[in-house]
Amino acid sequence: ARRLARPERTRVITTSNQKGGVGKTTTTVNLAAALARAGMRVLVIDIDPQGNASTALNIPHAGDVPSVYDVLLDEMEIQDVVQDAPDVDGLQVVPATIELAGAEIELVSLVAREQRLSRAFERYVAWRAEQGQERLDYVFIDCPPSLGLLTVNAFVAAEEVLIPIQAEYYALEGLSQLLKNVQMIQKHLNSRLQVTTILLTMFDARTNLAVQVAEEVRAHFPQQLLQTAIPRNVRISEAPSYQQTVLTYDPASAGAVAYREAAVEIAGRGAPTPL
Ligand code: ADP
Ligand code: MG
Repeated sequence: ARRLARPERTRVITTSNQKGGVGKTTTTVNLAAALARAGMRVLVIDIDPQGNASTALNIPHAGDVPSVYDVLLDEMEIQDVVQDAPDVDGLQVVPATIELAGAEIELVSLVAREQRLSRAFERYVAWRAEQGQERLDYVFIDCPPSLGLLTVNAFVAAEEVLIPIQAEYYALEGLSQLLKNVQMIQKHLNSRLQVTTILLTMFDARTNLAVQVAEEVRAHFPQQLLQTAIPRNVRISEAPSYQQTVLTYDPASAGAVAYREAAVEIAGRGAPTPL
């Protein structure tokens, strides 16, 4: 695989869109795997109770597995729950279990409920340094399809928001709510947060509608929209049932090629200019 240059600092990117089924998890796991295969040190934090990112990366996440739930509720440190992805060198995963479904409510009464993930991550970074481990290059947080406390924790821990958009009717509906929430987080909880990246997913260049949506997104977000769009590709949707990313499942498929290109583009842009 092509080697990429390391970013000048750790890039923490949260993949978010309150709509389900737009390609958040698919984008998280495939970009993470593409970057790891290009020599980067990558951590995926699965913060969706469905645990789809954990599944796709072949990480055990049955109910009793130590997970991000234990980290958020303060019983454990990230170093105690993180697992190496068995099939991709350089890729580690903080899994999510179904227990996390209750966390949204359990967090409400806790102190610093919005900062649980960011503080745990800071402690983990310090622990890695003490251990003499190399700095992480990319951290991806895979959000649930809602704007609740789990997503807020991701927004507070991250510097970058990556929004996958499925090029279909209603694609932009809900986007203004998402952007409003990002602004609210910027104002009150994390002044570093910015929407750096928008990626079109399940793109079918043969339909007028997809092309129109792409033009509209480009008009609104010329800086953020990646040149690379991810095509609708059956190999992408088959890979998770083999606990694989499309990059190992079918490296020559159009889907694998597109995710590798998107990863190169994201790396090429570098870490964002701080706000
Ligand atoms: P989200 O995390 O936003 O809910 P997913 O990443 O789970 O969305 O994707 C929803 C469904 O669409 C999954 O079954 C996934 O395999 C499929 N899918 C995602 N991207 C593509 C694509 N480019 N081509 C074909 N199927 C895709
Ligand atoms: Mg998902």
